[in-house]
Amino acid sequence: ITKIGVLTSGGDAPGMNAAIRGVTRYAIQKGLAVEGIVRGYEGLLSHETMPLNRRDVGEIIHRGGTMLRTARCLEFLETDTQKKALDYLHKLEIDALVVIGGDGSMRGAQALSRLGMPTVTIPGTIDNDMMGTQYTVGFDTSVNTVLESVNKIRDTAFSHDRVAVIEVMGRHAGFIALHAGMASGAEAVLVPEHPVDLQSLCEHLAESHRMKKMSSIVVVAEGAAKGSDVVDYIRNHTYLEPNLTVLGYVQRGGSPSAYDAIIAGMFSQKAVDSLVAGTYNCVIGLINNLVVATPYTEAENLRFPIDENMYQLVHWLGR
Ligand code: ATP
Repeated sequence: ITKIGVLTSGGDAPGMNAAIRGVTRYAIQKGLAVEGIVRGYEGLLSHETMPLNRRDVGEIIHRGGTMLRTARCLEFLETDTQKKALDYLHKLEIDALVVIGGDGSMRGAQALSRLGMPTVTIPGTIDNDMMGTQYTVGFDTSVNTVLESVNKIRDTAFSHDRVAVIEVMGRHAGFIALHAGMASGAEAVLVPEHPVDLQSLCEHLAESHRMKKMSSIVVVAEGAAKGSDVVDYIRNHTYLEPNLTVLGYVQRGGSPSAYDAIIAGMFSQKAVDSLVAGTYNCVIGLINNLVVATPYTEAENLRFPIDENMYQLVHWLGR
């Protein structure tokens, strides 16, 4: 191969820029030319691209978001549209494509692979919910952002003797809620991987209050329940005064943490090395602390759930 394309797709995540930089500079190091595709798969249809050299990706490693922009492109689910994108990649003389994004973006890459375009996917999503990897770029930064907010909310919850309910992102997964709950010493976390039992949550909170616990933090994953429903339930079933914070998009922004910037660089190297070695159509991942490339077909059977022990531990330590 002589030329690769790179795009970011789906929800943005801190560290995507570090990955764009890593892919571009390591590919150039390996003698390849690099074309950046703007706005994910949409850019392949609207023909928005830009050649990337070493200097074009300077001053971005520390920035949140993605310099290539990102998009959700529903049209791309259709085979005819994927063929149009493929034609355009051929026109640009791109031999292989690096996709940086979440599960959906990986399915898009897989679709292009089936049509004959070699691809690799670098996991980039705050949700940490992708198959073929135990870690996705952006997760650590997001958890740290939540932690910072929870610590601030805790100050006021303590002063006012309140229960603070904090709703966090994560789509259908509880990773952000669990890890942020563990790090912040939450009283309880609600995750989609476990049935939500608001009655026992209330008993638990009331008991803690009786034991002179001055404030309680409950972290709710968006996939488990609506924060507002949890607050209503607590208010209607206890004498406690709950308040609600829905953290929203702050969780997707900001400079990547050291860990995210480092992993983005390591994933980038593995992605380019895989393409150069001809072992493409795979997802890059971190498994048992090793950076590996797993074929898409095998990745389907490699799902890593939340840590059940950590889930128990949060509740034991939060009392
Ligand atoms: P995040 O988890 O951060 O939201 P994501 O990559 O999972 O990221 P999606 O919106 O699911 O986000 O997918 C991004 C894009 O990937 C879609 O808008 C679409 O263009 C493409 N895509 C998703 N699923 C498929 C599919 N089954 N086939 C082809 N393309 C797909």
